[in-house]
Amino acid sequence: MIQLIRGFKDILPDETETWRYIENMAIALFQSFGFKEIRLPIVEKAELFQRSIGEHTDIVEKEMYTFVGSKEQLITLRPEATASVVRSYIQQKLYAQEPIQKLYTIGPMFRRERPQKGRYRQFYQINAEVFGIASPYIDAQLIFMLWTFFERLGISGLSVQLNSLGCPACRPAFKEALSSHLASKTGKLCADCIRRQDKNPMRVLDCKVPSCQEVIGDAPSMKDYLCDECARHFDAVQSALGLQGIPFVLNSRLVRGLDYYSRTAFEIQTNALGAQNAIAGGGRYDMLVKMLGGPAQPAIGFAIGLDRLVSLVMQGKYEKELTPDIFIAALGEETREKTFEWSCALSVAGIRTEIDFSGKSLKALMKRANRINAANVLIVGSQEIEAGAVVLRNMATKEQVTIPIDGMVNHIKKHLAS
Ligand SMILES: [Zn+2]
Ligand SMILES: [Zn+2]
Repeated sequence: MIQLIRGFKDILPDETETWRYIENMAIALFQSFGFKEIRLPIVEKAELFQRSIGEHTDIVEKEMYTFVGSKEQLITLRPEATASVVRSYIQQKLYAQEPIQKLYTIGPMFRRERPQKGRYRQFYQINAEVFGIASPYIDAQLIFMLWTFFERLGISGLSVQLNSLGCPACRPAFKEALSSHLASKTGKLCADCIRRQDKNPMRVLDCKVPSCQEVIGDAPSMKDYLCDECARHFDAVQSALGLQGIPFVLNSRLVRGLDYYSRTAFEIQTNALGAQNAIAGGGRYDMLVKMLGGPAQPAIGFAIGLDRLVSLVMQGKYEKELTPDIFIAALGEETREKTFEWSCALSVAGIRTEIDFSGKSLKALMKRANRINAANVLIVGSQEIEAGAVVLRNMATKEQVTIPIDGMVNHIKKHLAS
């Protein structure tokens, strides 16, 4: 037997309804905030991610699935969506139609991380990006939209972590202060952080190794280095969140994994799985569009981790199984054509219908109807067809009603609605 690849998973029918439920809720909510969908390829040139995410990140250094395509071109399975959305915004000149674009996309991402429980190398995200708006109100509105989304899904123990990462004017001084702080404590840093400390010292801030945590404890904080404009922006985000009653915690260690973020960075966490877990994260990336060859346009976005969200929603109250409204128990070969026609007509009318063509006995068919949790069974034998009426049996109440064959779809529709 050929098995699936380690670190990958199948999403089976008893789970897919929850996926669709979550996705549909996101789509409906995001659309009412002005978002439109964009669908992008899952492969891009490797250099798109090298340039946007940054060379000295775990993702680019060791987690990307990159292979050689035709003409020696390096091709990468996308490890995240933002770079692709920005590439498309630039390449398709979306900014020329209208600089302000609000886009969302849903799909798989790929990272070669160490496989562990609940973590997959193909994982799914809902991403949303806003281009062309520099105002701090959009930062707050995105966080508000996310908060509303998780509340509607019934996720408990929500919290917002908030930080500002500054801008090219104020961040260098902070990076320098951080570097020299780290240099004085190199002995306590883990191997990864020793490597990061010069090229990407901010990454040390979210290292989970205990000895690194100690070093970070008294490290300088970005908020003490923000320039006036960044400080004003950050204050405005906080007061707008306050206006909407969204509670947040300032977290100077929140740096996000990727190089391209500037100013607002945020994470939505839940404690519903015991420990604190991030279920969405995002931030502003005002420099990225220009850096990738587009016009200078501010941007902000977020990603929701769907895999974790699905397990949270599935363990919660939401449970919706797709079971048949009608199961047609067709008895005997001579009922085959009529019941085939009816099953098609019922399904087209929006009634979930299942029919068994096996020609088994009524007893066996009732057994199967039970197994698949059919709400009603339509019992059809040649006698019923001759008499012009069939029997509809409610499986829960055992109640039976006679349905005339003439205009049957409408009769059944009415009966199910009552
Ligand atoms: Zn600044
Ligand atoms: Zn470390």
